Amino acid sequence: SEEALNHAQRLESVGQLTGGIAHDFNNLLTVIQGNLQVLEELPALADDSQGQQLVTAAMRASKRGAELTAKLLAFSRRQVLQPTAVDVAVMLHSLADMLRRTLDQRIRIEVDCGDSPPVLADPGQLESALLNIAINARDAMPEGGTLRFRAHACTVLPAEARRELDDPSMAHERLVEIAISDTGAGMPEAVKERAFEPFFTTKAAGRGTGLGLSTVYGFVKQSKGVITIDSAPGAGTTVTLRLPRPWAAETATVETELPSDLSVP
Ligand code: ADP
Repeated sequence: SEEALNHAQRLESVGQLTGGIAHDFNNLLTVIQGNLQVLEELPALADDSQGQQLVTAAMRASKRGAELTAKLLAFSRRQVLQPTAVDVAVMLHSLADMLRRTLDQRIRIEVDCGDSPPVLADPGQLESALLNIAINARDAMPEGGTLRFRAHACTVLPAEARRELDDPSMAHERLVEIAISDTGAGMPEAVKERAFEPFFTTKAAGRGTGLGLSTVYGFVKQSKGVITIDSAPGAGTTVTLRLPRPWAAETATVETELPSDLSVP
């Protein structure tokens, strides 16, 4: 149901955020623990029992902190991004089928991706990014409308997208374009400018977290792609992801997010 979909999206966003914070926090704890270990072995502390007690207490507390962040990481299921070649057409068709069953029947869903090449991305993250964007489109069309997914090899890279691209050597022919458009309310310039900001939302409390597009933005950046929004009030919205094709990013490094000893359910 739509309720379940909203709930899943909210959990996903909270999970992503929690995972991000826990990950950074864990790095800080590692620094703290390392310094405490050095402190513990300082000759100056050999005859200082009060100093030793304080260091021991601090070490115990930071160890507890590390256990808590491990739990948070497990909760958020923040996984290593595992980019693989994803068949975009298959993914878009199955997402569209799911949305046709789930969304208001007044929302017409179209897919046009005849001969799209595959992209190199984490399939789970790509799917949740597309879902996030689709739910925004749904929210922009309370009276119904058309939600359209298009995917094809990128032929021209607009200047706007070129500026945003971290790796300028990534020529357009190395990218696949996935565009999600709706015929909804559209965004005023001021909203469009802030749409990727974490916690920025124009939705009523409890409806929006403001984390959807910021999460999508993070995913696209990590995937060495680029995301742009084309929108105007009354003219609907198109969100375009441009992601690398598999051969283009062979040298891309996979970021390791989890300590190797942590099992993720
Ligand atoms: P949320 O959906 O929780 O508000 P997002 O980060 O996904 O958070 O979106 C931020 C804001 O961007 C939304 O509150 C809305 O104002 C605007 N927005 C996003 N997608 C669309 C869309 N397809 N049409 C109109 N406005 C949109």
